[in-house]
This record gives sequence, C-alpha cells and structure tokens, in this order.
Amino acid sequence: MNGQRAVTVAATVFVYVVTTLFLLEILSSLVYHDRNEYGTRRKRIVKQWDMQSKPRKKADIPYLNTNQPFKYDSEKSYILDSLLQKLLKTHDRPGDDYYGFNLTRSDEILVTRDVIDERSDECKNRNFNYASLPTLSVVTPFHNEALTPLLRHVHAILSRTPPQLLMEIILVDDNSTFSYLGEDLQEYFRILDSRIRILRNKERKGLILSRLQGEEEARGEVVVFLDAHMEVCEGWAEPLLERIKNRPAIVVQAYITPIDVNTLALKTDDNVKYRGGFGWDMRYMWFPQPLYVNQFLENDWEPFPTPVLQGSCIAVRKSYFNAVGRFDPGLKIWGGEQFDLSFNVWMTGGKIETVPCSKVGHIFKDNKYSFGSEDKIYTITKNRLRVAEIWMDEFKHIVRSAVMGTHFPGRSEADFRSHFPFFTEAELKSMQDRKALRKKHNSKSFAWFLKTLMPEHKIPSREDVNSGEIRNVRTKHSFFIFEDGYIGTKGNEGGEAILVPDNTFALDKYGRLKYEDRCVGYGEWNLLVIKECPSKVGEKGFMPWTYDNNQLITFHQSMYLCATQAKSRIPIHTGQTVVQLQMCDEQNDDQRWMFMFTYG
Ligand code: UDP
Ligand code: MN
Repeated sequence: MNGQRAVTVAATVFVYVVTTLFLLEILSSLVYHDRNEYGTRRKRIVKQWDMQSKPRKKADIPYLNTNQPFKYDSEKSYILDSLLQKLLKTHDRPGDDYYGFNLTRSDEILVTRDVIDERSDECKNRNFNYASLPTLSVVTPFHNEALTPLLRHVHAILSRTPPQLLMEIILVDDNSTFSYLGEDLQEYFRILDSRIRILRNKERKGLILSRLQGEEEARGEVVVFLDAHMEVCEGWAEPLLERIKNRPAIVVQAYITPIDVNTLALKTDDNVKYRGGFGWDMRYMWFPQPLYVNQFLENDWEPFPTPVLQGSCIAVRKSYFNAVGRFDPGLKIWGGEQFDLSFNVWMTGGKIETVPCSKVGHIFKDNKYSFGSEDKIYTITKNRLRVAEIWMDEFKHIVRSAVMGTHFPGRSEADFRSHFPFFTEAELKSMQDRKALRKKHNSKSFAWFLKTLMPEHKIPSREDVNSGEIRNVRTKHSFFIFEDGYIGTKGNEGGEAILVPDNTFALDKYGRLKYEDRCVGYGEWNLLVIKECPSKVGEKGFMPWTYDNNQLITFHQSMYLCATQAKSRIPIHTGQTVVQLQMCDEQNDDQRWMFMFTYG
C-alpha cells in the first residue's frame, strides 16, 4: 500500500517537472527565435554576458552615457553568445606550447572580463574635454593568434574607449592559417560592433606591412597600433589623445604592463619606471630611469620622454606619421620598426613619451610563428642591420660587429659572410632612398641622439672583444663594483632584459678586463677589485684575462685561476657575494659567465 502510494507520488512529480521544463523550453524559444544548434542554454548567456547585466555606476564610466557599446538587447546577446559558443566549440587549435602561454586558462576566462583598475587617483580623477580630443582608429595585425585573447582584445577596446572617440578597430589578418580565425569570427565581429573591420592579407606580409596597410585605411585622426594579445585598461585612450592634442610632432605610448603567461592576471600595479633603449646588437632593452630625467618629474603619472618605443602600443597622429615617413616598408615580418620610428622621430625634431596613466596589458610570450622563407634570426638580423645602416651613421659598424659575434659566434669572416644577411640591389637602393628621406627631413646625427637621449649608454671601444653586463650562468647575477672598489654580483630587480649601465664591463683584445678607464685586478684574499690599468699591455710580465668557450673567465691561463662567485666568509664584505679567483673547474657553474655582447 505504502509502496504503491510512493510510486504514484513520484510519477506525479515526474510528470509535473517534465511538463514545466517543456513549457519553459517553448517559452524560451519564443523569446529567442534564433534556435541554438549547439544546445546552448540560457545559463550560458548569463555566464558570458553577465558583465553587461551588472549595474554599472555612471560616475565610474562617465563616457558610457551615450551609445553604450555593451547595451545589447537580449536577442543580440543571444546571437553573439551562440556564435561565441560555436567558435569555442569548433576551436581546432595547437596546444598551449605553440602560443607560449596558458591558453587553456585564457579559454576559461570571460572574453568580457573586468580588470581591477589600479591607476593612481590622479589618473582616475582627471577630467577630459571629450569634444576637444582627436578621434582614434586602432590598428591590430594578427597572424595565427590565439582566439580568446583576440576576442578579449576587441571587447576591452569597445568597453573601455569612449564611443565618441573610437572611430574603428581595424584588424589586419596577416594570412592566418587557423580556421577559427575565419568566417565565424568575422560574423561575430560584424554583429558585435559595426566599427570593427577585418582586412585579410592574401599573402603573408609581416607585422610592419600589415600595420601600414591598416593605417592606410584608418579614418581616425590618431592611429594606435596594438598587438592582438593586448588588453587595454580603463581610461587608456584619453591621456594618450590629450597628449597628442596640441602637439604636432609627438608619438606616445601607454605604460605596458604584463599579463601573466600562466594565470592571465593583468598586473597593473607595477610602477617601476624604465625607459626603452637598445643593446648594441639592436635588441630592445629596458634601462633604469636616469636621475637627469627623474629629478625633473614632479609626480609619478606625468608623461616622461623615452628614447625608444616599446613597440606594441604606439599612438600617433595620422598626418604626422605620414609626414615623418611612416614605418620603413623594407622591414620584413618582425623587428626593427620601433627603432626606425623612434630614431626618425627624435632626430627630425619630434618627441616620444610614455604616458603612465594609460595602461595596456600585453602577454609577453615567445613568438613561434614561421618567419616565411628565411629563419627567424636571419630575418630579424637583417632588419636590425637595415635600421643601423639608415639611422646610425658611424655606429653601424658596432652593430654589425655585435650582431656577428653575439648571434653568429665563432664564425670566420668568410664563413660569416655566407650566413650574413644578404641585401639585393633593390634592397640596397631602397635603403638609399630612406637615407635620402632622412636627409630631406634635416635629420640630426646618431651621435646627437646618443649624446642627447642616452648619454649614459656605454659605447664599446674598437678594441673590445666582449662587453656589457657579465652575468653568472647559475644565479643570473651580474658583476658590479662596491664603493670600495671590490667586485660583487647582484641581480636586476626588473628581470633579465634590463641593462644597468653601471654594470657594463669590457674585455679588450689585449686581455684587459675594464670598467670605463680602469681595470679589474685582484687584491687581498684573491678578491677581484677595480684598479689602475696595467701599463705594460702585451709585454712580458703582463697577465691577461681570457674568456673561453666554456664560459670561464681565467686570469693568466697558466695559473688556472678563474673568476668565481662566492659568499664572503672573510673580513671583507662578509656575508655578501664577492668574486674571487679560485682554481678553475669547468663543472662549477659559479665560474661560468655570459657577456652580453661579443664582437666579431
Ligand atoms: N604579426 C603579424 N604578422 C607577422 C608577425 C606578427 O600580423 O608576420 C602580428 C602579431 O600577431 C601581433 C603583432 O603582429 O599581433 C606583434 O607581434 P608579436 O606579438 O609576436 O610581437 P612581440 O610582442 O613579440 O614583439
Ligand atoms: Mn606581442
């Protein structure tokens, strides 16, 4: 009896539930007439779009009063969500390794995510006269980029740029081969916002030509070049445009903050100031902000001059960009363009600044895409030599020599020539044309650039065989000089890519290990110490340093004594890391050192 009753109750409940679900399904299909072929349910809509349903305080985002880019009716959100689900479902992609960051994590994060606004109050509370600011076009080239960061890139621009200022987003597809970057994505963008345009390159053109192509199409007064895996932060555009507004000859960049390659967190609280510069092999490098700039800055947020653009977020008035000669179109695939534009702008009377109130996140990853017919190092080297030839006058020989020694080590001149980038007649001619343009614009000399913008940058001597920071292989800490002249080692606070000019040493062809016009010798306890240079260079009794293929720095080879990093247990600099001469031992990583540059 009881059992029968329980069955009846269960059956009734079951019928009720099924009927209710059925009715709900019919109701929802009435509301959303576009059927969802992937079975996406309404809760997904809420999941992907809940940012829009959250009430936003008007005071936070004053410019969203009109034409809110994210105020969709539910039908539009529904279609977008279906398209998004389809994109994610048919997302046929290589593993995370190809992309060089945790794309799996990225795929789990909303493409419309919020990021914490960690700007200083001074940046947040600034008021702008929107009517007076120039309009902007974003130009973003992409080649086989990851899907979700690209979506996030576009969504961030749409939601964090005042609509009256954003003319368009021009995406230049540089002949991508992944199908997830095809028609469905285009359809998604078409429905998302009419200001998004996609240009498709029929053949691979590289980052520089793709940007130029996008710029040609741009209708805004200002063009901002971005990377496809960048995420602009709240209030990014206004301070850039404000800076450009009344200055005819200026190029500005945002403060680029890293998006963590593992967690995808955007770290915007990083406020240490560095400026952009170059190493002698033409790698991009960060330099600590020198006192002669720092002491004139009244606060942390005002724009400061920078010698070289970082490259991934460049804002420039379209008319000025064209007047100055754009990017050199002879640069292939990747590399060199930020040097070309930076040298050009400064040396022809313009100015480059970083605007700290404008923050843009960037995923700093290795690029693993193909470089076309040539390999990566060949292509990049060729671009670097091209820039040096056009802009660096007599200093181009240092670049050539550093490129040869650092990137093609151990090659003879003849062997090197066969691997050295080869310039065709047409390329040589186009370099001459760029130089002629430079002359026409009354460009100053590269010596002027160095003296004026980077006086602290050490210029290697023709006699140097190696130079730059001397970095230990194990600890990655570099030689520096204590106040009393002893040599110690220490790390760079900002990571590996920062060059501290005070730590620039050189080993010359005579075997002198030098710091400026003094030399490294040894003193008490066999500790390395800075001294007067020996007078009998090359003569009998002179004891040279050598740097060998095992990365040992040996003092007078027959003595088998090598520069060794060690924690001091003696009365000098007790407890600190010093450098001591000890018996050479190839297995000891504390004796293995890297010079930043080798000259060929
Ligand atoms: N890119 C491109 N074509 C290429 C190489 C790169 O369109 O042949 C794009 C790339 O997808 C990215 C931008 O150019 O949006 C900058 O490239 P990347 O991020 O690799 O440069 P990095 O940040 O490493 O300097
Ligand atoms: Mn990038």
